[in-house]
Amino acid sequence: MSIYIERKFLGFISSKLEQFKQKQTDLYNFRCPYCGDSKKNKLKARGYVYRKSNDYFFICHNCGKSTTFAKFLEHVDGTTYKQYVLERYATGETGHQPYKKPDFSELKGNAWSRFQSTDAEPRGDSAQTSSLERTWRAFAHYSIKNLPDEHYARAYIKNRKIPEQFWDEILFVPQFREFLDKEFPQHSKDEVPNDDRVVLLYTNEKGEITNVAGRALSDTKIRYVTVKVSDEKKLFGLHRVQKENCIYVVEGQFDSFFLPNCVASGDSNLGGVAAVLPELDVVLVYDNEPRNRDIVKQIEKSIDKNLKVCLFPESVKGKDVNEMIQNGLTLTEIKDIIDANTFSGLTAKLKFTQWKRC
Ligand SMILES: [Zn+2]
Repeated sequence: MSIYIERKFLGFISSKLEQFKQKQTDLYNFRCPYCGDSKKNKLKARGYVYRKSNDYFFICHNCGKSTTFAKFLEHVDGTTYKQYVLERYATGETGHQPYKKPDFSELKGNAWSRFQSTDAEPRGDSAQTSSLERTWRAFAHYSIKNLPDEHYARAYIKNRKIPEQFWDEILFVPQFREFLDKEFPQHSKDEVPNDDRVVLLYTNEKGEITNVAGRALSDTKIRYVTVKVSDEKKLFGLHRVQKENCIYVVEGQFDSFFLPNCVASGDSNLGGVAAVLPELDVVLVYDNEPRNRDIVKQIEKSIDKNLKVCLFPESVKGKDVNEMIQNGLTLTEIKDIIDANTFSGLTAKLKFTQWKRC
């Protein structure tokens, strides 16, 4: 029950936190009391208290400081902290924030409610709901949606025209390696850059995380890093897929936000994705690069396997779905173009010969 105590004590000290506001249930934002936040802009607030499992934690997206609620409270107000320790002791909550079974009865009002409302019929059992709930709740304090309007990562996502309904699934982390070590201590990648990145989480059908991708926002040799955190097949957006409908498969994670019922491979091996979705209605939407030998080879292989592939007409400008959107096409137009230019079998072979440029 410590979450109630933590909520109460955060209330007690909220007047000491500049620009304090509640962003959503169990997510609070204010100016960081460790680094003092931006000196130039007094309105900038990059400190967050967020809920993970049944406890509160603190993180700052300016200085990178992250700690338990108890330590945060002690830093802000030593006297209130002593009362807090006493109250926890009195209610039997001793020790330092032990992890307990999350209280699912309280979960509401985040990403999952959107999935439920868009589904014709609610899918899955309660265990599935809980995994999705936990995934997005655990990362809410990193989400683009909760960043201030003028933040450069938010501006980057806005500029790429990513629909706002997905912004709570796109994260910004100020230090990528530290984020991985903290949130996914089981990852086994050695050389991870510790720079600021937009982070995308690969999920399985239950919404559990399988891989973590970080895209650099500043100039660097390593633009994309993908880190395995489970042994499951790497597929982006799988928790959104309804298997009874046509599934679009694209290369880029960002591209997958523009098509309904869409997953991304994160590479050009779309045939490999089709292989893990057997006997389903799958359309492979490769990047529109008729001069790229690797992609041309991959498409040919997929046609030989009698898979459905989209071959964009020459009139469509843009090398991938995201570029086409940035060039002015709407979501409906893109889907219509793909549907009208999806081929298989002999027709695909003929169209492919006309389409390729190498
Ligand atoms: Zn700070």
